[in-house]
Amino acid sequence: MAFLSRSAFNAAPPTEVPGALALDIDALTKRYPTGTEALRGVSLEIQAGEFFGLLGPNGAGKSTLIHCTTGLARPSSGSIKVFGHDAVEHYEEARKAVGLAPQDLNIDWFLTLEETLDYHGGYFGMPKRERKERIAELLEAFSLSAKKNDRTRTLSGGMKRRLILARALMHRPRFLILDEPTAGVDVELRLELWHYVQQINAEGTTILLTTHYLEEAEQLCDKIAFINDGQIVAQGTSQELAAQYGVAGLEDAYLELVGRKELSRAHVSEAAS
Ligand code: ADP
Repeated sequence: MAFLSRSAFNAAPPTEVPGALALDIDALTKRYPTGTEALRGVSLEIQAGEFFGLLGPNGAGKSTLIHCTTGLARPSSGSIKVFGHDAVEHYEEARKAVGLAPQDLNIDWFLTLEETLDYHGGYFGMPKRERKERIAELLEAFSLSAKKNDRTRTLSGGMKRRLILARALMHRPRFLILDEPTAGVDVELRLELWHYVQQINAEGTTILLTTHYLEEAEQLCDKIAFINDGQIVAQGTSQELAAQYGVAGLEDAYLELVGRKELSRAHVSEAAS
């Protein structure tokens, strides 16, 4: 794995409100037209520079929260600010500050890698010359330069994941959202992706990660919030969460959250001994 020039992962210099939180969500609710209340008064603060994990069972509201933050869904009430920019009132500024690596590999399979990144940069208003430089830098950083003229459908699974990350970083966002970036990938690729995202964070980009892998959250995140049924029910470091639930570790705290403490590995090993 070729690890990158520092500049490739550097976010844009701050142009935002001084001292603003990376993400500041206050009393957010989202009711879909179907009547489902996906978010029921979520308040959440992510400090600039933090690596933040959002954990919760399927249907808890994680995607809805991400969609509201990136303008894909409109909040019913409450507010979301990204580096001080209101995600609804000042959508463009807020959206520019965010890079999204979505769960599904939503790539156009007929474009080349270069075109994929170029279109994304164009969408974010980057001038042609800047796009060209940025593309070269990112392809190099993610060891994809040799593939730049290949169509994306010819890439291996690992390369597709790296391209999704490169695309998310194309416009130099200061806040990166990783929505289950390692779902269904093999161990080697998971560890490789961890290296990349840790480095991106170390170079100043704030990260929000959703994952179902508790080990991943424990390994990467400074702070973790549990979301359940549209509400944030606990947050802290993984040790703090364990202490809040009176258990030994993050996995047991999570099992308490989802009401399945009988699955704790502590019981399994007791039973086996
Ligand atoms: P998660 O990402 O944690 O699995 P979601 O945000 O996808 O949770 O879903 C939260 C709730 O909102 C679920 O009950 C889901 O069925 C519902 N939901 C999600 N998207 C829509 C939608 N577009 N229309 C109606 N209901 C939705």
